[in-house]
Amino acid sequence: MRPTARGHSDVRPRGLSQYVLKVHSRCDLACDHCYVYQHADQSWRERPREIAPETVRAAATRIAEHAREHGLRRIHLVLHGGEPLLLGPVRLAAVLNRLRATIEPVAELDLRMQSNGVLLTPRLCDLFAAHGVRVGISLDGDAAANDRHRRFAGGASSHAPVRRALALLRRPEYRHSYAGILCTIDVRNDPIRVYEALLAEAPPRIDLLLPHATWNAPPSRPDGTATPYADWLLRIYRRWVRDGRPVEIRLFDSLLATAAGGRSGTESVGLDPADLAVVETDGAWELADSMKTAYDGAAGIGLDVFQHPADAVLAHPEFVGSQRGLSGLCRTCRQCPVVAQCGGGLRAHRYSDVGGFDNPSVYCADLKELIISINRETATDATPAGVAVPTGPGGDLLLDGLPTGDLLEDLGAGHGSMTSLRRLAAAQLGYVRGLLVELADRVAGTPTASAWELLARLDEEAAEAVSAVLAHPYLRRWARQCLAHRAGKTSERAHLAGVAAAVAIRAGVVADLEVPVRSGLVHLPGLGALALDEPGERSALLSIAGGGFTARAGPSVVVVPAAGHAPPPAAWRPVRRAGLDGWEILVEDLDPYRDCYEWPAAARLDPAALASWQRSLAAAWARIQREVPGQAPGLRAGLRAVTPLRTDPTGRLRSATSRDAFGAVGTVAADPDALAVLLVHEFQHVKLGALLDLTVLFDRAYPGRLRVPWRDAPRPLEGALQGTYAHLAIADIWRARPGAEAGEHYRRYHGWTARAIDRLAGTGALTEHGQRFVRQMGETLHSWPDER
Ligand code: SF4
Ligand code: SF4
Repeated sequence: MRPTARGHSDVRPRGLSQYVLKVHSRCDLACDHCYVYQHADQSWRERPREIAPETVRAAATRIAEHAREHGLRRIHLVLHGGEPLLLGPVRLAAVLNRLRATIEPVAELDLRMQSNGVLLTPRLCDLFAAHGVRVGISLDGDAAANDRHRRFAGGASSHAPVRRALALLRRPEYRHSYAGILCTIDVRNDPIRVYEALLAEAPPRIDLLLPHATWNAPPSRPDGTATPYADWLLRIYRRWVRDGRPVEIRLFDSLLATAAGGRSGTESVGLDPADLAVVETDGAWELADSMKTAYDGAAGIGLDVFQHPADAVLAHPEFVGSQRGLSGLCRTCRQCPVVAQCGGGLRAHRYSDVGGFDNPSVYCADLKELIISINRETATDATPAGVAVPTGPGGDLLLDGLPTGDLLEDLGAGHGSMTSLRRLAAAQLGYVRGLLVELADRVAGTPTASAWELLARLDEEAAEAVSAVLAHPYLRRWARQCLAHRAGKTSERAHLAGVAAAVAIRAGVVADLEVPVRSGLVHLPGLGALALDEPGERSALLSIAGGGFTARAGPSVVVVPAAGHAPPPAAWRPVRRAGLDGWEILVEDLDPYRDCYEWPAAARLDPAALASWQRSLAAAWARIQREVPGQAPGLRAGLRAVTPLRTDPTGRLRSATSRDAFGAVGTVAADPDALAVLLVHEFQHVKLGALLDLTVLFDRAYPGRLRVPWRDAPRPLEGALQGTYAHLAIADIWRARPGAEAGEHYRRYHGWTARAIDRLAGTGALTEHGQRFVRQMGETLHSWPDER
């Protein structure tokens, strides 16, 4: 479906595509861990036992009309209870007929059922096969494990009847109706025996569920260890991996998917927005069933299918609250290194009487341990996209536990592979996302809030476009600047609308946004700027569609067509690039936040100056590839923009980087030989700055300053480390250049770097990570000769 979005108050939320329909509110089992009957919510007592035909009709009609209005192509609906099979084959057939007849003319209907299986018969299986219903069965493992909780009211075992149901579903004629097994964990059960018992039932998929718990009623930790659930799950995980992953295990698959930047596909982990509504047997619309564990009535929202459309659910504050992704989590979660994978766990598990849902999961320690261990054990070359990095400059997030691979050694050796740079870039992206979440709080209730809503929505529908825009080097500087001023600076914050507009244009969606005009320009990061000939106007209205937009400010109307569709108007100033032998970088001479270096940024380049820059950059890149090929992959993965700086009248070659502008290097114009050195030198600072955002390399409280050979005055430790790392790369480039002068440069830089490494190592102020990093620099340097 082509995503559409509108700014201001016209942001239409995505429709609901997943439903649970409670067809029977009682059960033939009496499991003592059941959230329906044994936990806080007791609303089942007031509900009709069976769903009435008119309730089914009303629910089906609401779902169909909602699918039609939102253009939903596929609806997922689970028949649930209590125990749905208690409805019996005749009434179940009537329910299925009604659902198919009402919903299928509008959308494809994926029908499922979750059952304890006790009452499953061949006749019911025939019915499900005829209606394409896939059945999931609850089973907690072998007989001992299962019967720990899953028993009849009189205490009799349910294991044998449940296994009979599974055997039925394994028959060839019913196999396609077999959805899988749902297993609730009890850490007193042996995990491997549970795994083997479940595997023996040949399910297409296994769901391992943490038992529902809250901070008010925490989970049982029988052996007193800190992370018994993680330990239990990890034993299964390792065996599953050793077995070659013979079956889908949703929790593990979700964590692996989110580690690679994908969606979790489940409400249990990850940041996927809630997309599910429940219809109870009395027709009440409710939130996800797991909420019943939080407190009595927690799932209720006071709406029903007779009076309220599904849109009312979507707009309900409780539902909206459960959909907010990262911004809906507590501060601890928002700053957590694994939040992109964990998502704060199941919402219900965050509940406490004191903080409501504004807490980490009561399973926080287990989730963190599980995710970190899985990430560590699957440490591959994959970029941990989406891993949010909680701390910025001065932060103390350690790399331990993140999928670091050999990041420290790889960067410390002086170059940095494409993989390492992608990891740094992913971490920076996570950091910028975290800043935007903070900014969202600041713009709440202001006109800019609609830009945040649009951005949050596009993050679900056009995540690539969001990431592409948020990766612009100067967005971090802008966001930090905004956050540094609690009051005022409204115009700075309004730039968020320009960010959202840039995403909407990239994504090709429809949106209306009011964007700020700064010095006569509307800035769209990474795309360009539009000059408006209306000096008095502080804002413009952008109507975005199909990759282009129309800007209105006062009497002016300017149409900027989608790139490549028609010539742009003269008022449009696009960003421009330099092609570097198969890839390209921005020549950033437009962004309003680029002027962040000690030496001022140059103004917009005229065509001749731009062409000169493009030629110099291409030639410098050719030299880098030839002279220091080890630097090329990292540069290619991490360098995004070169910002021209104003020429120094003294002729000094000025270049700079900012910790707040990952991927950008500022430099004056220079000949290709010098430009190659400047780029390699400055990119060392980019890499080390990003690494310092991730880990602590030295004691920040270290009071001393270090004498370095290239400066008269002693340097603070960070400055000395940065200089040493940069000089290692400069030595590398002079090592490759011919001629006596280059040889002399090499000898000097080699000596400087060697002495600085010794002094750094001698401070006693390096952390373990710092020692590894500096040791690696030393090993690289000592593998080169002192003189060429
Ligand atoms: S079978 Fe399911 S609904 Fe029935 S008591 Fe057990 S957990 Fe509850
Ligand atoms: S591991 Fe804990 S802090 Fe981190 S996101 Fe999950 S619940 Fe929140």
